Order: sequence, then C-alpha cells, then structure tokens
Amino acid sequence: MQLSNKFGRGDKIVIASHNEGKIYEFKTLLSAYNLKIITSRDLGIQDVEETGSTFQENSLIKVKSIPDNYLAISDDSGLCVNALGGKPGIFSSRFQKKCGGWFEAMEKIYSDVKTKKIEDFSAKFICCLSIKFSKNLIYSYLGEIKGKIVWPPKGKNGFGFDPFFIPKGHTKTFAEMEHSNKIFIDHRSIALKKLIKLHLNDS
Ligand code: IMP
Repeated sequence: MQLSNKFGRGDKIVIASHNEGKIYEFKTLLSAYNLKIITSRDLGIQDVEETGSTFQENSLIKVKSIPDNYLAISDDSGLCVNALGGKPGIFSSRFQKKCGGWFEAMEKIYSDVKTKKIEDFSAKFICCLSIKFSKNLIYSYLGEIKGKIVWPPKGKNGFGFDPFFIPKGHTKTFAEMEHSNKIFIDHRSIALKKLIKLHLNDS
C-alpha cells in the first residue's frame, strides 16, 4: 500500500481507462519515468458509469474503480464549446455515441454553432486527472487548452475531436500535428505536468 503521496521511477501504476487514445497518450507522457504501466483492462475492471456532474467527479469515480492496493491514475476530459454553453463537455464521449461517430458528432457541433446569431467557434479541451495513492489519499489536477473548432475536419492523427480543433497560437488541427507534438501541449499533459511536479519522487 502507498503510504506517501509520492511515486518514483520503477513503480507500478494503473491507468484507469479503456480509451485507447488516452492510454497511448499517458504511456507516451510517462515513458520518461520508467513506470510499469497497466490499465483497467489488465485487471479485468470494466469501464465505470460516469455519473458525476463535473470533470473532477467523473475522474474520481474512475480512479476509485481501481483497488486501493494499486497506485492509479485517471482522466476525465472533453471538449467545451463556448457558443454551446460549454457543451458537450463532460458528455463528450456519450454525445459522440449518440451521434453515431466522431465525424457525425463534429458535424453536429459545428452546425449547432452555425445556427447561433453570432458565430463564435472558440472552444477548449478540459482534463481533470486524479491520482490515488490509497483509499483516502487522492489528488486531482486540471489542465485546459483553448482554441477553436473548424470545418471540415483535417488530419489523421490522434483521436476523438482532434481533427476539428486548432489550439490557440497554431494553424494546424490536433490531428494534423505530429501526434508526438500534440501530446506534449494538450490539456492532459498540462494537468500531468502539475501532478508530476508535486508527486514524482525524483531523488
Ligand atoms: P471520457 O473522459 O472517457 O468521458 O471521454 C472524453 C471524450 O472527450 C473522449 O472520448 C474524446 O471524445 C474527447 N477528448 C478528450 N480528450 C481529447 C483529446 O485530446 N483529443 C480529442 N478528443 C478528446
């Protein structure tokens, strides 16, 4: 059992996720720390129902789905579109399923924004990461990246909404960027940097 709020090189960590895109990003971001990384699937743990009303609540539900004797990390994330009052937000994944696919979901979001009186395509990705050292030792960190949605979607890299999101200060969508570059600037990496700074025992 983890008794401190630090982890170190060589530790085993469970990524509480079934999302292959996120798992790939976590593995890449954490590769510098020589951790033994496993996922919910390796432990036979099903995807949990996201019943929370915030990114943090859902990320806590996910991290708590992993038995307390493991060091675990989770992510709840989504795309918040300003003209749609922050939607789909925490419902991003469910919205995509309801629309019947990523392309359809992006098309619906873009066309919903087009119906507004003032066209405002600004949006942001938000991520809340939680890390659980033991039952009562859990920490959460937020990361966000601002940008805009564009049509048509462009690029083949990444996952989810990557093809129609251009981060501020850039000209390419997340899906047009080299995935290895996207990973190190996105909302997940911003939250992870905070977590690493406070919890990695680098001595
Ligand atoms: P959840 O956190 O499992 O509810 O899923 C969040 C959903 O938000 C994902 O399935 C993607 O649709 C979207 N999402 C989160 N992060 C990213 C990203 O970095 N790129 C593209 N889509 C993302």
